[in-house]
Amino acid sequence: MVYPQQEGLMSIEATNHYLETAANILGISERLKTVLKTPRRIIKAEIVIERDNGELATFVGYRVQHNNSLGPMKGGLRYHHEVCENEVESLASLMTWKTALVNLPFGGAKGGIICDPRKLSESEIERITKTFTDQIRDVIGPNIDIPAPDMNTNAQTMAWIMHEYSKFYGFSPGVVTGKPVYLHGSLGREEATGLGVTLTIENLLNDHQRSIKDATFVIQGFGNVGGIAAKCIHERGGKVICVSDVSGALYDKKGIDIPTLIQHTHEHHSIKGFQDLEMISNEALLSLECDVLVPAALGDIFTKEVAENVNASFIVEGANDPTLPEGDEIFNKRGIIVAPDILANSGGVTVSYFEWVQNIQRLSWTEEQVNQELQRTITNAYQRVVKLAKKENCSLRTAAFIIGLGRVAKANLTLGL
Ligand code: NAD
Repeated sequence: MVYPQQEGLMSIEATNHYLETAANILGISERLKTVLKTPRRIIKAEIVIERDNGELATFVGYRVQHNNSLGPMKGGLRYHHEVCENEVESLASLMTWKTALVNLPFGGAKGGIICDPRKLSESEIERITKTFTDQIRDVIGPNIDIPAPDMNTNAQTMAWIMHEYSKFYGFSPGVVTGKPVYLHGSLGREEATGLGVTLTIENLLNDHQRSIKDATFVIQGFGNVGGIAAKCIHERGGKVICVSDVSGALYDKKGIDIPTLIQHTHEHHSIKGFQDLEMISNEALLSLECDVLVPAALGDIFTKEVAENVNASFIVEGANDPTLPEGDEIFNKRGIIVAPDILANSGGVTVSYFEWVQNIQRLSWTEEQVNQELQRTITNAYQRVVKLAKKENCSLRTAAFIIGLGRVAKANLTLGL
């Protein structure tokens, strides 16, 4: 399903709206606001490759480097036919506030290539990845900008980038994170975002005298984030009643057998056809009655109309940028509690940081050590956000932006504009 182009605010305007709200509470000057909104660099690359049939094809790739006041810039790289500069800029900005919120020594960046990986062979994707790396290699690096997996990219993609980059600059595992574990990746990285989403849900439900065991869940997206979150929720006794992927949504109000569904998707590359369960649309999924709704696919899905029809008590944003300000306003009015993306999906960048640290120190952590540190980091960030939201009488999103923005603003002022 392709979401129609939204009328109203586009991604970057939406992100800047959240930034403005926090900046006004912090009393940040117009001058500094301008600096904080403006990306350091926007790279547009034309990627020409030879297709398997011998013809040439051109793809457009972006890397937006938003802010490096707190350290090297960090952010994912996505392959999707709807990637556009505006969206990449918004996602890069979100990475700046996210890394600052969880207190990592990183800034924010994001990348994307306009392509539909389902229509490309593995070797064509490899050529696209290596050509793009070659075109941006001067401006990425372990101390400059460190890409990671995002939609439709994975450990294999990161291994190709590391290999291409290392040809020019020598062995450089720290240039990307989310690599295969046997090629300088970290234990726990693949699961980190979905596990972080689950830890956020646990914290949120505990605060409301609820638990995963007595709650129902609806999850949009069954890839790295949605699939792992579903698995972690299922392992903790939660009832996942609906999950979706690009082909539609599977619904079973008795609860879906997630481990068997994961096996099914490995074999069929889709959730379709699983145990003859009822299929509903991705739109219908968003209005199902449940305790916790987890968007874990695309951005810009909660418009005013969609938000009005949401039938959940909590929304935990696994995806980046799923809520437009008009939707956010409705959630706040309706008392639906939203754990914002920069908090809820920060597990990925947190364990990416652990991977980078291990690469630099040339040592390996155990999975237990990674997960313990992840739990500590996410829970600390969650508690700081909840405390500030109570103090300021604001949403968790506004509180999260105040913390992230406050740190970056202070660093920018100290370093000099
Ligand atoms: P992925 O490619 O592994 O999975 C994406 C899932 O979304 C797939 O199941 C796909 O079928 C589904 N999907 C795609 N288009 C859809 C549509 N139109 N409707 C419904 N479902 C659709 O990607 P991912 O890494 O799981 O990323 C998902 C979201 O989480 C993105 O917004 C990404 O930016 C965010 N995120 C990812 C990470 C990470 O570590 N991978 C970290 C933070 C945030």
